[in-house]
Order: sequence, then structure tokens, then C-alpha cells
Amino acid sequence: MKIGIVGCAGRMGRMLVNAVLAAEGCSLSGGTERAGGDAVGRDVGEIMSLGTLGVLVEADARRLFAGSDAVIDFTAPAATVFHAGLAAETGRVLVVGTTGLTKDDEAALRAAADRVPVVYAPNFSIGVTLLMALTERAAAILDEDYDLEVVEMHHRHKVDAPSGTALGLGRAAAAGRRVALDSVWCKSRDGHTGVRHRGEIGFATLRGGDVVGDHTVMFAADGERIELSHKASSRTVFANGAVRAARWAHGKPAGLYSMRDVLGL
Ligand code: NAD
Repeated sequence: MKIGIVGCAGRMGRMLVNAVLAAEGCSLSGGTERAGGDAVGRDVGEIMSLGTLGVLVEADARRLFAGSDAVIDFTAPAATVFHAGLAAETGRVLVVGTTGLTKDDEAALRAAADRVPVVYAPNFSIGVTLLMALTERAAAILDEDYDLEVVEMHHRHKVDAPSGTALGLGRAAAAGRRVALDSVWCKSRDGHTGVRHRGEIGFATLRGGDVVGDHTVMFAADGERIELSHKASSRTVFANGAVRAARWAHGKPAGLYSMRDVLGL
């Protein structure tokens, strides 16, 4: 199976290149970077100090899609929307890990998913995917006497907040409680906020250092508190999960899938 990586020189892009090279039965069809970026024209392997692979970083994503069975995208929202159009046009599987997408951006993914398989997840690790399922179950069992808070910490370079994973956990909790997340969320608190609203799902964001991704879902009641936590210590878990998703989606009917679909959770 030929897999291409858009944004191949990014933090995740490099991990994804490694994961494709290590995956049995998979080959790297190529990689792209933003036009004018330093990496364009260089050998993908050299960027990663792997030696020459004979695959040059390109700026032409259309060519990459045409020469791939699946493309994995961990870039930025505007780029992901563009790539969704290319996936639909060329009939290729698209795996999206980019976070910070707006509702309109997500509508573009859904439009592509009418024509091709698209796997979209805020977190491709197996542990976090299980945490989502556990969160939904716990939220369905524990009523609103249990105040629900999602706490996350990431490295200092992260540009969106709360993290896509934190919002995904909030969405899973809201699904367990049979409410829409955006009718109960409180994404940040500052100043004289008043008392906590019953049924609110709160978020707290920490940023610093090189933290790959920590998430805790808290259910705090009078007299007890339950915490479900996940800590990622290496980006390889996201990259391996994304490659697994690409292989799973290859040959599936068009549709928008999540990592929970990939793992059967
Ligand atoms: P990064 O900034 O290191 O990498 C992004 C790369 O995309 C950069 O190299 C950039 O030049 C490139 N890029 C941007 N626009 C492009 C375009 N039009 N064409 C080609 N390349 C383009 O960021 P990162 O830490 O690798 O994270 C990337 C995204 O993945 C973020 O949204 C992050 O939140 C998300 N992420 C998701 C998961 C997950 O499991 N879903 C895990 C980690 C990070």
C-alpha cells in the first residue's frame, strides 16, 4: 500500500514518515511541504537524518494524491481543507489528525467523506481512543452530581486550545450524558465567573516544555472524585495509529470514520 505524507517535515510528519517506512506491506509514495518552505526539493530521508531515500519533498499535493493509495495529513486547518478536496477529486483515502478545525472546515471533511473514506480523529493513540470510550461510559453512569472537568497539558509550541483531544473527550462525555457539548461547555474561566453551573463540562489548558500530551477527565462529586488519565510520552503512538487507520480504511466504502471505528470501540 502506497502512503503519502503531507506536511512531512513537521513534528508529526517526520514521525509519520518513519511509521510508514516501518509498516509491513507499506511504502512511502512521497511527502509534501508548504510551497517555499526550506524542506521542498530535499530528500525526505535526509531531513530526518536517515540517509537518502530517493524521495524528494514536493510542494505539489495533487501529484502526491495521484500517486498514493492513502494520504495522511497532520498539518494545519486551511491545508487540511485543501487536501480534503484533493482526496475527493482523486478518490484516495484520507487520514486527518490536524486539530483546531472550525465547523466549516469539518463540513469540508464531511463533503469529501461522501466520496472517499476519511478517518478523522483528534488523537490516534490506542490509549486515548480507549479513554474516549471509558469517558462516555462513565458519563452515562454518573449523573450531574459529578462535575465534569477535562484538564490537558501540551508542549509550548501547540497553537490551539483546548486541545482537539480534550474537546473530543468533552464530546464523548456529552454523548454519554445525551447533551450537545456546545450547549454545556465552559472552555476557559477568568475573573468573577460566578458559581459553577450544574451539568457544565469545563476545560482547563496548560502549556509548557516538551509535554507530548496529557489528558485527565475528572468527575468530582461531594465526598469523592474519579479521574481517568492518559499521558503520551512519544509521538510515535499517534503516527502508528494513523498508519493503522490508513490500512484499515483502504477498500472501505466512502464515509467519515473515527479511530473508535478503526479499533472497533
Ligand atoms: P508542525 O507545525 O510541526 O507540523 C505541521 C507541518 O505541516 C509543518 O511542517 C508545515 O510546514 C506543514 N504544512 C502546513 N501547511 C501545509 C501545506 N499546505 N502543505 C504541506 N505542508 C503544510 O505541527 P505538529 O506538531 O506536527 O502538529 C500538526 C497538527 O497535528 C496539529 O494540528 C496538531 O494539533 C495535530 N496533532 C494531532 C495528533 C493526533 O493524534 N490527531 C497528534 C499530534 C498532533
